[in-house]
This record gives sequence, structure tokens and C-alpha cells, in this order.
Amino acid sequence: MSARVLVVDDIATNLKLLEAKLSAEYFDVVTALNGVEALAICERGEADIVLLDVMMPGMDGFEVCRRLKSGPTTAHIPVVMVTALDQPSDRLKGLDAGADDFLTKPLDDTALFARVRSLVRLKSVTDELRNRALASRRLGIADPLAAAAAESGLNGRILLIEDRPTASERLSGALDAFHGVEVETDPHKGLVRAAEGEFDCVLVSLDLKCYDGLRLCSQLRSLERTRSVSVLMLGEAEDRTRILRGLEIGAHDFLVRPIDRNELLARVRTQIRRKRFTEKLRDSVQSSMEMAVMDQLTGLHNRRFMDSRLGVMFDESALRARSLAMLVLDVDRFKSVNDSWGHDAGDEVLREFADRVRACTRGIDLVARMGGEEIVVVLPDTTLEAAYAVAERIREQVEAEPFAIHRNTRSISVTVSIGVASRRAGDASSAEMLKRADEALYRAKESGRNRVVVANAA
Ligand code: GH3
Ligand code: MG
Ligand code: MG
Repeated sequence: MSARVLVVDDIATNLKLLEAKLSAEYFDVVTALNGVEALAICERGEADIVLLDVMMPGMDGFEVCRRLKSGPTTAHIPVVMVTALDQPSDRLKGLDAGADDFLTKPLDDTALFARVRSLVRLKSVTDELRNRALASRRLGIADPLAAAAAESGLNGRILLIEDRPTASERLSGALDAFHGVEVETDPHKGLVRAAEGEFDCVLVSLDLKCYDGLRLCSQLRSLERTRSVSVLMLGEAEDRTRILRGLEIGAHDFLVRPIDRNELLARVRTQIRRKRFTEKLRDSVQSSMEMAVMDQLTGLHNRRFMDSRLGVMFDESALRARSLAMLVLDVDRFKSVNDSWGHDAGDEVLREFADRVRACTRGIDLVARMGGEEIVVVLPDTTLEAAYAVAERIREQVEAEPFAIHRNTRSISVTVSIGVASRRAGDASSAEMLKRADEALYRAKESGRNRVVVANAA
């Protein structure tokens, strides 16, 4: 995922160093030598996340942060304050100014990339929420997502899995004032509780006596019922390799012991916001106020909404040189379902078909029923290969289980054909990508149905 990181520091060599590190990780880097420049860049919408030095002559980092967080066009941009190690009080001042997270000088690469990635993820879900809210407004519909942007990330439900009483007491003591914290010392019970409770965030100790905390992180990230919960690791500084491994397997972020109270509060808050935003995105299609952009039968977005969003998503991905892919899905021989079992049975199949497609997609993906038995899925930040994998999973999920009809008294097998395409550098508009996906679907039908065909990448 390529995101634009604005680095603000009054010392040019610091800027150069950070620029080199971040560019090597494929972030786009913009730099500013002072607060005024930084504010202007953010107001022009040219930054996805800001790394802000605290100590600067003139306007210091706190003031820049305060101004960013109070401007309507910049308040949603995540800010990471870069503070000196020997100034823990700076973090409190940073929190007061609205900072989303902290890094300490000298900068450690693991922490730097983890912080940036975590906030880029947060930004991409908030952006999608904002865009959908704007799209609804443009269509003249009251907008249920506007309120979501104001999400505070407070009053979270947190599960702390930690078997050392001194550590858990300290951590829950720090979090108690802002969130509801439950402590679990047994990792097996912890996993069950995480699956059963509606937690926003799970803190996992990597130093449990009888269990590998990394395994727990991996289980939390893969279980259906805990997949959307934010996972934060608590580790020792020497545990660098395991922390890195944890980030690879999907933990959202980490904290290094001894854990700084304000850092803990900031990081937990970011993760709660990310989790809630993601959920709101997923739930947004179900919101009754979105009726006009929804398909009544399946609860998916409708063609009208897709038409208004696809072009925007396409332009955005082109502008930012991010990948974008789409799937066009069409149920095979659907007419014969209607003919053999009746139109109502056909409707039952369409509903179940939509549910299975939705279950295979992320909250950030746009899933719309284009009419009849055709569904289109638009996948931001997704390569052609990854889109193929999603399509193939959907195809398998449709084929694997027969569809219940006549109110569960019968079941019939159903298959789907899928065309896949991605944005090419030379595409003038989304219509060209859509056309390729349609042609690929046509080839899938021609070559025997129940298959996925991918349009050439270039
Ligand atoms: P193919 O494998 O080539 O896609 O064959 P097909 O039969 O699926 O394709 P065709 O486009 O000929 O038929 C689609 C059918 O879908 C015809 C139409 O009556 C039916 N249909 C369209 N909308 C609905 C709906 O909302 N409910 C039901 N039950 N049927 C619908
Ligand atoms: Mg069909
Ligand atoms: Mg059709």
C-alpha cells in the first residue's frame, strides 16, 4: 500500500534520513522544514499521515498538531509525534494536542514502520467512510456515516491476556479511566472470552509462562469471531524478532516494556478507532438510511451507488498509483433455477449468493448487485493476483455447499462464473477496466462456466 507520509523536522539531515528509510519501504514521502509549510501541505490534502518533530523553532510540534486536529479538512489525518526519550511529559502534552501516536528519537525502524503502517490502515478506512458519506450526500441521502468520523476511540472494551499480576495491575490501572478492562491470565480461556465477548481490542503478552503469545495473536487474527478485533502485543525490547513476526502474522501493533502510560493510551485508542471504523464500514450497507443506494433483495449496494463510486475509486487509485481490481460475477444458468423451482426460489438463491460473496470480501471492498444475477466487486489496493484469489474463493464457496430453497426444504447446487480485471496504467477511465472484466466473464461462460477468468494485466 503506497501512502503519502509527511515528515516535519527543522533539521534537514533528519528529513533526509527518514525520507530514505520510508522510501525504501515504498511509502511516498513529502517533507516540510517548519509548521507553516506542514499545515499548508495537509490543507492541500497531500498527506495521509504526519510524522511531526516536537522541537522546532517558531511553531513547535504541539501547536502544529493542535491546528491540524482543529481544522475540518485536516482533523482526520493521523499525527505521530516524534519526541525525545528523556522527555516523557512530551507525550502527555502530545495527547492533549490530539496526537495519535508517538515515536522516540533515535528512531527505531521496527517501531517506525509499525506505527506508520498501523496509522495508514486507520486512514484508509476513515477515508473510505468519508467517501461513502460524501457519495450518499451527493445522492441527496441523509448520511449515517458522518457521525462515524467523530468516533473518539474511548470507552472501549479491552481484554488483557497477561499472567503476571504486577503487569496486569499496572496496565489496567492506566486504562481504567477511559475504557472497560478485563484481565485473563489463562491464554486458552482468553481466546474463548475474546470470541464470546464484544471486545474492541485485545492486549496479548508475549511473555506468558505456558503459552506462546504469538500463537494466540495468530489465532485471534484467523478466528471468524475475533478477526475484526484489534490485537496489540506486549513484549520485551529484546523480543524484536518475535514482535516483527507478530506484525507479519497480522497483529496490529505492539508496545515495548516498560510500557509508557501515554503511549499505551494513544495506541489503544488508535486501535479501537480502527476497529470501530472498520465495523461501521461493514455495517454501513445494512443501515436503513442507505436504502436509496441499496439493493432491496440482497442488501448489497445497488447499481446507482456503484456507478457513482467506481469512477471515484478508479481516479483515486490512478492518482496515488495504487492498485485497483474488480470482479464481475454472474450465476450460471440462473434462468433454469427460476424455470425449475420458481421465481421465489430464484430470489432465495440470489440472497444466499450475495451473502457468500460478502463473506469473502473486506469492509473496504465495494460489493454491488448490478441487476439480475450479476454482482460486481471493486477491490481497492488489490493486485490482479490477489483479486484472482478472492474470486477463486468465492467460486469455491458457491460450489461447495448447495443452496437452500423453498424455506430450507430443498437444496440445489449453484455455480458462478467470474471475470477479473485490474486497473492498467494506460486506462483512461473505469469503463475500460469494467469492459475487460466483462470480457473475461464472457470467456468464463464460453469455456464451460463455474470458473474464474483473468483479463491480462497489461
Ligand atoms: P448464464 O450461465 O449464461 O449466465 O445463464 P443464465 O440463465 O444465468 O443467464 P440469463 O441472463 O439468460 O438469465 C438470467 C435470469 O435471471 C433471467 C431473469 O428472469 C432472472 N432474474 C433477473 N432478476 C431476477 C430476480 O430479481 N429474481 C429472480 N428470481 N430472477 C431474476
Ligand atoms: Mg447467469
Ligand atoms: Mg446474466
